[in-house]
Amino acid sequence: MINVMNTSWKNEEPTINFTTRPYEEPRLNEPLYDGSKTTILQSVLRHFVTFCSNNGMSKSAVSMCLSNEKKVLPQPNKLPKSYKEAHDMVKHLLIPTTTYHCCVNDCQIFRLDHSDNIKCSVCDEDRYLTNSQNPRKTFTYMPLGPRLARWYGTDNVCKLLYSKQEVANGKLGDFTDGSIYESWYEEGGVFENMEESLTVPLALFTDGLNPNKSMATQKSMWPLILTWLHLPVNVRQILGPMMLVGIIPGTKTEEPKHLDPYLELIVDELLTLSECKLFNTYKGAPCKVKVALLQYQCDIPAFGKLLHVSSQAALRGCPYCRETGEYCKNLHKVVHLSNRSFLPTNHHLRSDTTNYASKREESSTTQHMYTNEEEYDLRKQYDDLPNKNQKNNMQKRTGLKGTYSFMKLPYHNRSEQMQPDGMHTIADVIGNVLDTITGKDDSKKVRLCEQEFDRFKDTWVKENTDVTEESTDGSSNEVVGQKRKSVTPNNVQHKKKKSNNVEQCVLPPAPWRLDRTALALADKRAKSLQYPPGFDYHPDKHFSKPWTLRTMHGKLQFVTSNAAAWCLHGLLGPEQERTLLKLFDVLKKLTKEEYKVADLEQLQEETHEALALIERDFPLSLQTITMHLLHHIPEGFPRYGPLYGRWLFPYERVNCWITRQVLNKHRIESTVMETYAIYDWCVFMLMSDIVDTDDLTLGKFEDICNLNEPKKETMKKTQTLLEEKVLDDMSEVYDFALTSRMNKQGLALKSVEKKVNGKTSRVSSNKQSPSHVYFVRNLKDQHPCVREEDDMVFGRVKSIFEHDWRGKMYTWVLLDLFSDVAYTDGFWNVSERVSCCKPFLLDDISEPQVIGRDNDRLFFIGVDVKLCSNEL
Ligand SMILES: [Zn+2]
Ligand SMILES: [Zn+2]
Repeated sequence: MINVMNTSWKNEEPTINFTTRPYEEPRLNEPLYDGSKTTILQSVLRHFVTFCSNNGMSKSAVSMCLSNEKKVLPQPNKLPKSYKEAHDMVKHLLIPTTTYHCCVNDCQIFRLDHSDNIKCSVCDEDRYLTNSQNPRKTFTYMPLGPRLARWYGTDNVCKLLYSKQEVANGKLGDFTDGSIYESWYEEGGVFENMEESLTVPLALFTDGLNPNKSMATQKSMWPLILTWLHLPVNVRQILGPMMLVGIIPGTKTEEPKHLDPYLELIVDELLTLSECKLFNTYKGAPCKVKVALLQYQCDIPAFGKLLHVSSQAALRGCPYCRETGEYCKNLHKVVHLSNRSFLPTNHHLRSDTTNYASKREESSTTQHMYTNEEEYDLRKQYDDLPNKNQKNNMQKRTGLKGTYSFMKLPYHNRSEQMQPDGMHTIADVIGNVLDTITGKDDSKKVRLCEQEFDRFKDTWVKENTDVTEESTDGSSNEVVGQKRKSVTPNNVQHKKKKSNNVEQCVLPPAPWRLDRTALALADKRAKSLQYPPGFDYHPDKHFSKPWTLRTMHGKLQFVTSNAAAWCLHGLLGPEQERTLLKLFDVLKKLTKEEYKVADLEQLQEETHEALALIERDFPLSLQTITMHLLHHIPEGFPRYGPLYGRWLFPYERVNCWITRQVLNKHRIESTVMETYAIYDWCVFMLMSDIVDTDDLTLGKFEDICNLNEPKKETMKKTQTLLEEKVLDDMSEVYDFALTSRMNKQGLALKSVEKKVNGKTSRVSSNKQSPSHVYFVRNLKDQHPCVREEDDMVFGRVKSIFEHDWRGKMYTWVLLDLFSDVAYTDGFWNVSERVSCCKPFLLDDISEPQVIGRDNDRLFFIGVDVKLCSNEL
């Protein structure tokens, strides 16, 4: 099935040429049948695009389509009759893969010095199955070199490297705006004196993936994905330009024991490619191209495996600073209680000697990580230690394990090349916070931990308070670990027997936890929410049913849309509420797509303060390593740019694609790689336009064809007559034009796209779910606030139309305006009664808003504009 190819990049000087000559072969360009306008190549491409854009379509399904189509086409015709025939026809056009034999225990790959071994030289396991020529384990690798040669060697694709637009100064919008990226091109940097377009800075992603749908089995395979960091975001996040190099196989249901032998393949290729000559069609000449792997984008467990740092449960669990956690015996886990050491030295929270676990003034400051040289030395020392025990001790002390494959790269610098993964970190923090306030994660252990550190005295579990008749009646008390039952003598008997059970106790109310009534109210508010399109989840009782916010993206949206803050306001203790809103506000700011460099210092301080307050006002069980990692996220912005360009979400989509390709249990990884080779070729064909692809139905590949040209407007527009009153209102905005001179015709649209800060959303006049928007009069630029309620206008989109004025097209939105605008508890709200109907320019109104209903009023919960009349 898969060819073991002797690829040129391994032995020769890499002067790789890509040519489109094979595409000119007459065999491929013959018409499908006499008189057909479609060539054989085009029809194979069409079938493969269908194959790749329908996740999980099997090869036998492709064969069936081909053979059926072959029968109905005019005879004779040249359509291949099976998947295999079609594959053979274009195989030489795909990027070749190499299949290696590996040790079943992942100690080594049988290559280089070991190519002829029949046993693993480390663990002595057999290479081949008993009495067979078949290897016990294989790994399929798709090299980088030929893909880069193809990229530089194809007009349409190569020019993408030259399309990058210069970004306005003082703004951070992507990784390439950060100082780390800049430093690569400066003196002493890895790309010193190189033209940006002739460099290939890469990032590596990997994560354990469970190929079987059932969650019971272990994750077992690890895809390795490389992204090209300075391609435009919309290009580099598509699988294709995002390069799958291989999938490290697990053994049955177990994870691979080591990743290093596989990673060494990448390292070796990177070393041969570090400088290579590739033909550049943009320049029309061969050019020296420099390739380097400079970033690692993974979650914490993957970082541990890839870069040999401690796992998240360790005392020294932070790979970015030398913070040490504390083991809490009641919680059976490590907590990180150093949030205050991130604060400015004169910060008032540092001198709090009562509310923090330490009961001391905090005078320490954060300790930076080891330098690159120190770290290299420590890792060498670790390798040289004689036994496991000493190694473990050293790891506990330093948070570092031994040397690893990527250290062979001369420019490797771990602490500069990995950043905390914002997606998992923030979603994890949100999940933990919600689980604590709803009581899901609250327990006797949590309260005992507070007691251990002498905090929140009223929340401690009183000695010998088993569940008794009286205490189960208390409405604000909660029985943990068991559903409430009516208390019958039988039940009491039953419970007394289990009285030693830790789970069975009464937890006194706590200021950080919603009581029964509050939980119901929060649920009711959450259920009343109405989201504009683009949200991952539906309104539901998210507080009592946490699984309704299952996805990471869902959790993030729930907080960043301000929905969480609105649902919870007024329901927790006053300090807790203030602190929680501060944390939510920080999370919202941490996920922005663009920053002004000047604002970053303040964002860092706000983050440190919010986390120090969480440590003060919420149980210590929340102080996990992910909470600590949040400190490092805004610290990284000046150097790495916003999280937006580094989210792991696009990789998650690729992982999902891989999982869906798994159709049989046999040699899963190499089968997926074979399909990926076809996928990669399809994407290349669509991007390159080597053959005409205009008539193709593209499915999810639609976007790829539009990379070079903006999308065509396909909205239906209908003529509409504008009312006199509407025209009057419009004339005021058109600088007091004469209504009589205005065109009374408009072109009505159902919906229209609106761009705010680079983010596109859809404004709709759909009768079932019309968009809710607002308009601000007299907005002050610096701090978005207004002086009085009347400065805010809230409405529901009734219709959208375009209008021609003095030869220019304007897009208008006709709004039903709500009456009785009020600002309470920091939220704008209106009566649902419509007072009038007025047109506004699309450019002037907000993007569609999340709406909540409470006490017969409509809340616009995500509005950033504040009312500041009281303060002035
Ligand atoms: Zn072995
Ligand atoms: Zn740290």
